[in-house]
Amino acid sequence: MLPKNRGKVALVSVHGDPAIDIGKEEAGGQNVYVREVGEALARQGWQVDMFTRRSDESQAEIVDHSPNCRTIRLTAGPQEFVPRQKIFDYLPEFVTAFFDFQHQHQTIYPLIHTNYWLSAWVGMEIKKLQTVRHLHTYHSLGAVKYRSIKTIPLIAKTRLRVEKQCLETADTIIATSPQEQKHMQTLVSQQGNITVIPCGTNIDCFGSIDCDNGRAKLGINPDDKVVMYAGRFDQRKGIETLVRAVAKDEVKRHKNLKLMIVGGFTPGESDGLEKERIANIVHELDIEDITTFVGRVQHEDLAAYYAAADICVVPSHYEPFGLVAIEAMASRTPVVASKVGGLKFSVADEVTGLLVPPQDEAAFAQAIDSILANPQWHKQLGTNARERVEAKFSWDGVANQLDQQYLSELNKLYEELGLFNPAV
Ligand code: UDP
Repeated sequence: MLPKNRGKVALVSVHGDPAIDIGKEEAGGQNVYVREVGEALARQGWQVDMFTRRSDESQAEIVDHSPNCRTIRLTAGPQEFVPRQKIFDYLPEFVTAFFDFQHQHQTIYPLIHTNYWLSAWVGMEIKKLQTVRHLHTYHSLGAVKYRSIKTIPLIAKTRLRVEKQCLETADTIIATSPQEQKHMQTLVSQQGNITVIPCGTNIDCFGSIDCDNGRAKLGINPDDKVVMYAGRFDQRKGIETLVRAVAKDEVKRHKNLKLMIVGGFTPGESDGLEKERIANIVHELDIEDITTFVGRVQHEDLAAYYAAADICVVPSHYEPFGLVAIEAMASRTPVVASKVGGLKFSVADEVTGLLVPPQDEAAFAQAIDSILANPQWHKQLGTNARERVEAKFSWDGVANQLDQQYLSELNKLYEELGLFNPAV
Protein backbone atom coordinates (compact mmCIF):
# COMPACT_ATOMS: atom_id res chain seq x y z
CA MET A 1 0.00 0.00 0.00
CA LEU A 2 1.19 3.51 -0.79
CA PRO A 3 1.78 5.89 2.09
CA LYS A 4 -1.04 8.41 2.35
CA ASN A 5 1.19 11.43 2.37
CA ARG A 6 4.36 11.37 0.31
CA GLY A 7 5.04 15.09 0.71
CA LYS A 8 4.62 18.32 -1.18
CA VAL A 9 5.87 19.12 -4.63
CA ALA A 10 5.65 22.32 -6.66
CA LEU A 11 5.48 21.79 -10.41
CA VAL A 12 6.42 25.09 -12.03
CA SER A 13 5.24 25.78 -15.58
CA VAL A 14 5.33 29.55 -16.04
CA HIS A 15 4.01 29.68 -19.61
CA GLY A 16 2.21 26.33 -19.91
CA ASP A 17 -0.91 26.62 -17.79
CA PRO A 18 -2.00 23.05 -16.92
CA ALA A 19 -5.60 24.18 -16.39
CA ILE A 20 -6.33 25.72 -19.81
CA ASP A 21 -7.65 24.37 -23.08
CA ILE A 22 -5.00 22.51 -25.04
CA GLY A 23 -4.28 22.80 -28.74
CA LYS A 24 -4.31 26.52 -29.32
CA GLU A 25 -1.41 28.93 -29.46
CA GLU A 26 1.40 27.97 -27.09
CA ALA A 27 -0.77 25.39 -25.37
CA GLY A 28 0.40 21.93 -26.21
CA GLY A 29 2.45 19.05 -24.90
CA GLN A 30 3.87 20.85 -21.88
CA ASN A 31 0.43 21.75 -20.53
CA VAL A 32 -0.69 18.14 -20.96
CA TYR A 33 2.50 16.78 -19.38
CA VAL A 34 2.31 18.96 -16.28
CA ARG A 35 -1.40 18.32 -15.76
CA GLU A 36 -1.18 14.53 -16.26
CA VAL A 37 1.98 14.14 -14.21
CA GLY A 38 0.44 16.28 -11.47
CA GLU A 39 -2.73 14.25 -11.29
CA ALA A 40 -0.94 10.91 -11.47
CA LEU A 41 1.47 11.92 -8.69
CA ALA A 42 -1.44 13.08 -6.56
CA ARG A 43 -2.90 9.57 -6.96
CA GLN A 44 0.39 8.22 -5.62
CA GLY A 45 0.02 10.28 -2.46
CA TRP A 46 1.90 13.49 -3.33
CA GLN A 47 0.39 16.87 -2.63
CA VAL A 48 0.90 18.58 -5.96
CA ASP A 49 0.65 22.32 -6.59
CA MET A 50 1.22 23.44 -10.19
CA PHE A 51 2.36 27.06 -10.46
CA THR A 52 1.78 29.03 -13.62
CA ARG A 53 1.44 32.66 -14.76
CA ARG A 54 -1.98 34.22 -14.77
CA SER A 55 -2.64 35.29 -18.37
CA ASP A 56 -6.20 36.61 -18.08
CA GLU A 57 -7.97 38.63 -15.39
CA SER A 58 -10.97 36.35 -15.51
CA GLN A 59 -8.94 33.26 -14.66
CA ALA A 60 -9.39 31.74 -11.20
CA GLU A 61 -6.32 32.05 -9.00
CA ILE A 62 -6.64 28.48 -7.79
CA VAL A 63 -8.18 25.58 -9.73
CA ASP A 64 -8.73 22.25 -7.94
CA HIS A 65 -8.33 19.32 -10.34
CA SER A 66 -8.56 16.39 -7.97
CA PRO A 67 -7.88 15.81 -4.29
CA ASN A 68 -4.26 16.92 -3.72
CA CYS A 69 -3.75 18.42 -7.16
CA ARG A 70 -4.38 22.03 -8.08
CA THR A 71 -3.22 24.80 -10.39
CA ILE A 72 -2.11 28.05 -8.75
CA ARG A 73 -1.89 31.14 -10.94
CA LEU A 74 0.59 33.76 -9.82
CA THR A 75 0.51 37.33 -11.04
CA ALA A 76 3.69 38.28 -12.90
CA GLY A 77 3.42 40.96 -15.55
CA PRO A 78 0.20 41.91 -17.32
CA GLN A 79 -2.79 39.62 -16.84
CA GLU A 80 -2.98 38.90 -20.53
CA PHE A 81 -1.42 36.53 -23.05
CA VAL A 82 2.31 37.21 -23.42
CA PRO A 83 4.26 35.18 -26.01
CA ARG A 84 6.92 33.04 -24.38
CA GLN A 85 9.78 35.03 -25.98
CA LYS A 86 8.62 38.00 -23.92
CA ILE A 87 8.02 36.40 -20.52
CA PHE A 88 11.60 36.45 -19.21
CA ASP A 89 11.35 40.04 -17.93
CA TYR A 90 8.45 39.10 -15.65
CA LEU A 91 10.18 36.16 -14.00
CA PRO A 92 11.56 38.08 -10.97
CA GLU A 93 7.95 39.03 -10.20
CA PHE A 94 6.96 35.38 -10.52
CA VAL A 95 9.63 34.35 -8.01
CA THR A 96 8.46 37.01 -5.56
CA ALA A 97 4.85 35.89 -5.99
CA PHE A 98 5.92 32.29 -5.31
CA PHE A 99 7.60 33.25 -2.03
CA ASP A 100 4.58 35.39 -1.09
CA PHE A 101 2.33 32.39 -1.71
CA GLN A 102 4.47 30.16 0.51
CA HIS A 103 4.45 32.82 3.19
CA GLN A 104 0.69 33.43 3.06
CA HIS A 105 -0.04 29.71 3.19
CA GLN A 106 2.63 28.99 5.80
CA THR A 107 4.15 26.32 3.63
CA ILE A 108 7.45 25.38 2.03
CA TYR A 109 7.91 23.10 -0.97
CA PRO A 110 10.95 20.86 -0.53
CA LEU A 111 10.77 19.68 -4.16
CA ILE A 112 10.51 21.99 -7.14
CA HIS A 113 10.09 20.40 -10.57
CA THR A 114 10.40 23.06 -13.28
CA ASN A 115 9.31 22.82 -16.91
CA TYR A 116 10.87 24.67 -19.90
CA TRP A 117 13.79 27.08 -19.61
CA LEU A 118 11.73 30.01 -18.27
CA SER A 119 10.71 27.96 -15.27
CA ALA A 120 14.28 26.66 -14.95
CA TRP A 121 15.36 30.22 -14.17
CA VAL A 122 12.60 30.45 -11.53
CA GLY A 123 13.77 27.16 -9.99
CA MET A 124 17.39 28.32 -9.84
CA GLU A 125 16.34 31.58 -8.14
CA ILE A 126 14.23 29.72 -5.56
CA LYS A 127 17.16 27.41 -4.85
CA LYS A 128 19.35 30.41 -4.05
CA LEU A 129 17.02 31.37 -1.20
CA GLN A 130 15.54 28.12 0.06
CA THR A 131 16.75 24.59 0.80
CA VAL A 132 15.15 22.63 -1.96
CA ARG A 133 15.76 19.85 -4.47
CA HIS A 134 15.42 21.20 -7.99
CA LEU A 135 14.37 18.87 -10.82
CA HIS A 136 13.97 20.11 -14.36
CA THR A 137 12.37 18.93 -17.62
CA TYR A 138 13.38 20.96 -20.69
CA HIS A 139 10.52 20.08 -23.10
CA SER A 140 12.56 21.83 -25.80
CA LEU A 141 16.24 22.69 -26.05
CA GLY A 142 17.29 26.01 -27.58
CA ALA A 143 20.55 24.44 -28.79
CA VAL A 144 18.56 21.99 -30.93
CA LYS A 145 15.64 24.23 -31.84
CA TYR A 146 17.80 27.06 -33.18
CA ARG A 147 19.46 24.66 -35.61
CA SER A 148 16.13 24.04 -37.32
CA ILE A 149 14.73 27.57 -37.67
CA LYS A 150 15.71 30.44 -39.95
CA THR A 151 15.09 33.45 -37.70
CA ILE A 152 16.74 33.25 -34.28
CA PRO A 153 14.81 35.31 -31.68
CA LEU A 154 16.49 38.00 -29.59
CA ILE A 155 16.00 35.98 -26.42
CA ALA A 156 18.18 33.12 -27.76
CA LYS A 157 21.36 34.13 -25.94
CA THR A 158 19.61 34.33 -22.58
CA ARG A 159 17.84 31.03 -23.18
CA LEU A 160 21.04 29.18 -24.07
CA ARG A 161 22.78 30.60 -20.99
CA VAL A 162 19.91 29.61 -18.66
CA GLU A 163 19.67 26.12 -20.18
CA LYS A 164 23.39 25.51 -19.61
CA GLN A 165 23.32 26.89 -16.09
CA CYS A 166 20.30 24.76 -15.21
CA LEU A 167 21.88 21.57 -16.58
CA GLU A 168 24.97 22.21 -14.49
CA THR A 169 23.23 23.21 -11.25
CA ALA A 170 19.85 21.46 -10.94
CA ASP A 171 19.86 18.39 -8.71
CA THR A 172 18.27 16.22 -11.39
CA ILE A 173 17.41 16.76 -15.03
CA ILE A 174 14.65 14.63 -16.46
CA ALA A 175 15.19 13.88 -20.14
CA THR A 176 12.11 12.49 -21.86
CA SER A 177 14.09 10.35 -24.30
CA PRO A 178 17.65 9.03 -24.65
CA GLN A 179 17.93 11.29 -27.74
CA GLU A 180 17.19 14.36 -25.63
CA GLN A 181 19.77 13.25 -23.07
CA LYS A 182 22.37 12.93 -25.82
CA HIS A 183 21.53 16.40 -27.14
CA MET A 184 22.04 17.86 -23.67
CA GLN A 185 25.40 16.19 -23.28
CA THR A 186 26.70 17.03 -26.73
CA LEU A 187 25.17 20.47 -27.32
CA VAL A 188 24.63 22.02 -23.88
CA SER A 189 27.14 20.76 -21.31
CA GLN A 190 28.90 17.59 -20.26
CA GLN A 191 28.12 18.32 -16.63
CA GLY A 192 24.72 17.46 -15.20
CA ASN A 193 22.84 14.69 -13.49
CA ILE A 194 20.42 13.37 -16.11
CA THR A 195 17.88 10.59 -15.82
CA VAL A 196 15.53 9.44 -18.59
CA ILE A 197 11.81 9.26 -17.76
CA PRO A 198 9.59 9.43 -20.87
CA CYS A 199 6.37 11.36 -21.38
CA GLY A 200 3.21 9.31 -21.13
CA THR A 201 -0.33 9.16 -22.37
CA ASN A 202 -3.74 8.27 -21.02
CA ILE A 203 -4.13 4.70 -22.29
CA ASP A 204 -7.70 4.45 -21.01
CA CYS A 205 -8.80 7.47 -23.03
CA PHE A 206 -6.72 6.91 -26.18
CA GLY A 207 -7.73 3.48 -27.44
CA SER A 208 -11.16 3.55 -25.79
CA ILE A 209 -12.96 3.76 -29.13
CA ASP A 210 -12.35 1.70 -32.27
CA CYS A 211 -12.08 2.86 -35.87
CA ASP A 212 -15.68 2.08 -36.90
CA ASN A 213 -17.18 3.85 -33.89
CA GLY A 214 -14.75 6.76 -34.23
CA ARG A 215 -15.82 7.21 -37.85
CA ALA A 216 -19.51 6.88 -37.03
CA LYS A 217 -19.11 9.53 -34.31
CA LEU A 218 -17.33 11.95 -36.65
CA GLY A 219 -19.43 11.22 -39.74
CA ILE A 220 -16.48 9.78 -41.68
CA ASN A 221 -17.24 7.27 -44.41
CA PRO A 222 -16.05 3.67 -43.72
CA ASP A 223 -14.39 3.60 -47.18
CA ASP A 224 -12.36 6.77 -46.70
CA LYS A 225 -8.58 6.69 -46.38
CA VAL A 226 -7.85 9.21 -43.67
CA VAL A 227 -4.46 10.81 -43.07
CA MET A 228 -4.36 13.11 -40.05
CA TYR A 229 -2.23 15.69 -38.25
CA ALA A 230 -2.89 16.96 -34.73
CA GLY A 231 -1.06 19.75 -32.95
CA ARG A 232 -0.18 23.40 -33.00
CA PHE A 233 0.20 25.53 -36.12
CA ASP A 234 3.89 26.31 -35.91
CA GLN A 235 6.39 26.11 -38.78
CA ARG A 236 8.60 23.70 -36.86
CA LYS A 237 5.71 21.22 -36.83
CA GLY A 238 6.22 20.70 -40.58
CA ILE A 239 2.56 20.71 -41.67
CA GLU A 240 3.75 22.03 -45.04
CA THR A 241 5.71 18.81 -45.61
CA LEU A 242 2.57 16.78 -44.91
CA VAL A 243 0.31 18.71 -47.30
CA ARG A 244 2.94 18.56 -50.04
CA ALA A 245 3.31 14.81 -49.48
CA VAL A 246 -0.45 14.25 -49.66
CA ALA A 247 -0.60 16.14 -52.97
CA LYS A 248 1.87 13.71 -54.58
CA ASP A 249 0.47 11.20 -57.03
CA GLU A 250 1.33 8.08 -55.04
CA VAL A 251 -0.80 9.33 -52.15
CA LYS A 252 -3.51 11.06 -54.17
CA ARG A 253 -4.09 7.88 -56.15
CA HIS A 254 -5.77 6.27 -53.12
CA LYS A 255 -9.52 6.37 -53.60
CA ASN A 256 -11.53 8.46 -51.10
CA LEU A 257 -8.40 10.04 -49.62
CA LYS A 258 -8.99 12.61 -46.85
CA LEU A 259 -6.55 14.87 -45.03
CA MET A 260 -7.67 15.95 -41.57
CA ILE A 261 -5.71 18.73 -39.87
CA VAL A 262 -6.60 19.14 -36.20
CA GLY A 263 -5.47 22.08 -34.06
CA GLY A 264 -6.58 25.49 -32.85
CA PHE A 265 -5.47 28.90 -34.09
CA THR A 266 -6.31 32.52 -33.55
CA PRO A 267 -6.59 34.73 -36.66
CA GLY A 268 -3.85 37.36 -36.64
CA GLU A 269 -1.69 35.55 -34.03
CA SER A 270 1.36 33.55 -35.10
CA ASP A 271 -0.59 30.27 -35.24
CA GLY A 272 -3.35 31.94 -37.26
CA LEU A 273 -0.75 33.16 -39.75
CA GLU A 274 0.73 29.68 -40.07
CA LYS A 275 -2.76 28.23 -40.62
CA GLU A 276 -3.32 30.79 -43.37
CA ARG A 277 0.03 29.93 -44.96
CA ILE A 278 -0.82 26.22 -44.94
CA ALA A 279 -4.32 26.92 -46.32
CA ASN A 280 -2.73 28.85 -49.21
CA ILE A 281 -0.43 25.93 -50.00
CA VAL A 282 -3.41 23.56 -49.89
CA HIS A 283 -5.14 25.84 -52.38
CA GLU A 284 -2.09 26.03 -54.67
CA LEU A 285 -1.75 22.24 -54.59
CA ASP A 286 -5.41 21.91 -55.46
CA ILE A 287 -6.20 19.55 -52.58
CA GLU A 288 -8.83 21.74 -50.92
CA ASP A 289 -11.60 19.25 -51.66
CA ILE A 290 -9.90 16.50 -49.65
CA THR A 291 -8.52 18.68 -46.83
CA THR A 292 -10.40 19.63 -43.65
CA PHE A 293 -9.15 22.08 -41.05
CA VAL A 294 -10.97 20.72 -38.05
CA GLY A 295 -9.91 23.41 -35.54
CA ARG A 296 -9.14 22.74 -31.91
CA VAL A 297 -10.52 19.55 -30.44
CA GLN A 298 -10.85 18.93 -26.68
CA HIS A 299 -8.01 16.68 -25.61
CA GLU A 300 -10.21 13.69 -24.62
CA ASP A 301 -12.31 14.02 -27.79
CA LEU A 302 -9.19 13.49 -29.88
CA ALA A 303 -9.49 9.76 -29.11
CA ALA A 304 -12.19 9.44 -31.82
CA TYR A 305 -10.06 11.32 -34.38
CA TYR A 306 -6.98 9.17 -33.86
CA ALA A 307 -9.10 6.00 -33.98
CA ALA A 308 -10.86 7.14 -37.17
CA ALA A 309 -7.59 7.89 -38.99
CA ASP A 310 -5.67 5.35 -41.03
CA ILE A 311 -2.38 7.12 -40.39
CA CYS A 312 -1.28 9.91 -38.07
CA VAL A 313 1.59 11.97 -39.46
CA VAL A 314 4.03 13.84 -37.21
CA PRO A 315 6.19 15.80 -39.68
CA SER A 316 8.09 17.98 -37.16
CA HIS A 317 11.44 19.49 -38.06
CA TYR A 318 12.43 18.96 -34.45
CA GLU A 319 10.48 17.24 -31.66
CA PRO A 320 11.79 16.86 -28.09
CA PHE A 321 9.19 14.16 -27.36
CA GLY A 322 5.92 14.50 -29.32
CA LEU A 323 2.86 13.41 -27.35
CA VAL A 324 0.72 13.17 -30.48
CA ALA A 325 2.72 10.17 -31.70
CA ILE A 326 2.06 8.10 -28.58
CA GLU A 327 -1.59 9.22 -28.38
CA ALA A 328 -2.13 7.95 -31.94
CA MET A 329 -0.22 4.75 -31.21
CA ALA A 330 -2.34 4.14 -28.09
CA SER A 331 -5.34 4.45 -30.41
CA ARG A 332 -3.93 1.65 -32.64
CA THR A 333 -3.12 4.08 -35.44
CA PRO A 334 0.25 3.71 -37.19
CA VAL A 335 2.43 6.82 -37.18
CA VAL A 336 4.56 8.23 -39.98
CA ALA A 337 6.99 10.62 -38.32
CA SER A 338 10.16 12.58 -38.89
CA LYS A 339 13.26 10.73 -37.78
CA VAL A 340 14.13 13.33 -35.15
CA GLY A 341 14.43 13.69 -31.37
CA GLY A 342 11.95 11.83 -29.19
CA LEU A 343 10.09 10.43 -32.21
CA LYS A 344 13.05 8.13 -32.81
CA PHE A 345 12.38 6.73 -29.36
CA SER A 346 8.58 6.50 -29.36
CA VAL A 347 7.96 5.30 -32.93
CA ALA A 348 9.59 1.94 -33.64
CA ASP A 349 10.48 2.09 -37.34
CA GLU A 350 8.63 -0.55 -39.39
CA VAL A 351 7.07 -1.92 -36.18
CA THR A 352 4.62 0.79 -35.08
CA GLY A 353 4.92 3.06 -38.11
CA LEU A 354 7.64 4.56 -40.28
CA LEU A 355 10.38 7.12 -39.65
CA VAL A 356 11.49 9.33 -42.53
CA PRO A 357 13.89 12.27 -42.93
CA PRO A 358 12.33 15.58 -41.80
CA GLN A 359 11.13 18.01 -44.49
CA ASP A 360 11.40 15.29 -47.14
CA GLU A 361 7.95 15.34 -48.73
CA ALA A 362 8.80 12.57 -51.19
CA ALA A 363 9.81 10.25 -48.36
CA PHE A 364 6.64 11.09 -46.42
CA ALA A 365 4.54 10.39 -49.52
CA GLN A 366 6.21 7.05 -50.05
CA ALA A 367 5.75 6.06 -46.39
CA ILE A 368 2.05 7.05 -46.35
CA ASP A 369 1.44 5.22 -49.61
CA SER A 370 3.17 2.04 -48.47
CA ILE A 371 0.97 1.78 -45.36
CA LEU A 372 -2.28 2.70 -47.13
CA ALA A 373 -1.55 0.15 -49.85
CA ASN A 374 -1.14 -2.74 -47.43
CA PRO A 375 -4.15 -3.16 -45.10
CA GLN A 376 -2.77 -6.24 -43.35
CA TRP A 377 0.51 -4.53 -42.50
CA HIS A 378 -1.47 -1.44 -41.47
CA LYS A 379 -3.41 -3.52 -38.94
CA GLN A 380 -0.26 -5.16 -37.59
CA LEU A 381 1.48 -1.79 -37.14
CA GLY A 382 -1.57 -0.54 -35.19
CA THR A 383 -1.60 -3.57 -32.89
CA ASN A 384 2.14 -3.24 -32.25
CA ALA A 385 1.74 0.48 -31.59
CA ARG A 386 -0.83 -0.09 -28.85
CA GLU A 387 1.38 -2.75 -27.24
CA ARG A 388 4.39 -0.45 -27.26
CA VAL A 389 2.51 2.39 -25.57
CA GLU A 390 1.02 0.08 -22.92
CA ALA A 391 4.50 -1.24 -22.13
CA LYS A 392 6.42 2.03 -22.09
CA PHE A 393 4.29 5.18 -22.12
CA SER A 394 1.31 5.04 -19.75
CA TRP A 395 1.03 8.04 -17.40
CA ASP A 396 0.78 5.78 -14.40
CA GLY A 397 3.98 4.00 -15.44
CA VAL A 398 5.68 7.36 -15.93
CA ALA A 399 4.35 8.62 -12.59
CA ASN A 400 5.73 5.51 -10.86
CA GLN A 401 9.18 6.40 -12.13
CA LEU A 402 8.78 10.04 -11.09
CA ASP A 403 7.49 8.94 -7.69
CA GLN A 404 10.67 6.93 -7.09
CA GLN A 405 12.78 9.84 -8.29
CA TYR A 406 11.02 12.32 -5.99
CA LEU A 407 11.35 9.96 -3.02
CA SER A 408 15.06 9.64 -3.59
CA GLU A 409 15.37 13.46 -3.92
CA LEU A 410 13.52 13.89 -0.63
CA ASN A 411 15.80 11.36 1.04
CA LYS A 412 18.83 13.28 -0.15
CA LEU A 413 17.33 16.51 1.14
CA TYR A 414 16.62 15.01 4.56
CA GLU A 415 20.11 13.53 4.60
CA GLU A 416 21.63 16.95 3.82
CA LEU A 417 19.61 18.43 6.66
CA GLY A 418 20.40 15.53 9.02
CA LEU A 419 16.68 14.78 9.44
CA PHE A 420 14.50 11.67 9.21
CA ASN A 421 12.21 11.48 6.15
CA PRO A 422 8.68 10.74 7.42
CA ALA A 423 7.46 9.72 3.92
CA VAL A 424 9.46 6.45 3.82
N1 UDP B 1 -3.97 18.74 -28.70
C1 UDP B 1 -5.30 18.83 -28.27
N2 UDP B 1 -6.22 19.38 -29.12
C2 UDP B 1 -5.91 19.81 -30.36
C3 UDP B 1 -4.57 19.68 -30.82
C4 UDP B 1 -3.62 19.14 -29.96
O1 UDP B 1 -5.63 18.44 -27.17
O2 UDP B 1 -6.81 20.32 -31.06
C5 UDP B 1 -2.96 18.16 -27.79
C6 UDP B 1 -2.46 16.80 -28.23
O3 UDP B 1 -3.38 15.81 -27.87
C7 UDP B 1 -1.14 16.69 -27.49
C8 UDP B 1 -0.68 18.16 -27.38
O4 UDP B 1 -1.81 18.97 -27.74
O5 UDP B 1 -1.32 16.14 -26.21
C9 UDP B 1 0.49 18.47 -28.29
O6 UDP B 1 1.64 17.91 -27.74
P1 UDP B 1 2.96 17.54 -28.55
O7 UDP B 1 3.96 17.02 -27.55
O8 UDP B 1 2.64 16.62 -29.67
O9 UDP B 1 3.44 18.92 -29.18
P2 UDP B 1 3.84 20.34 -28.53
O10 UDP B 1 2.60 21.17 -28.56
O11 UDP B 1 4.33 20.10 -27.13
O12 UDP B 1 4.90 20.89 -29.42
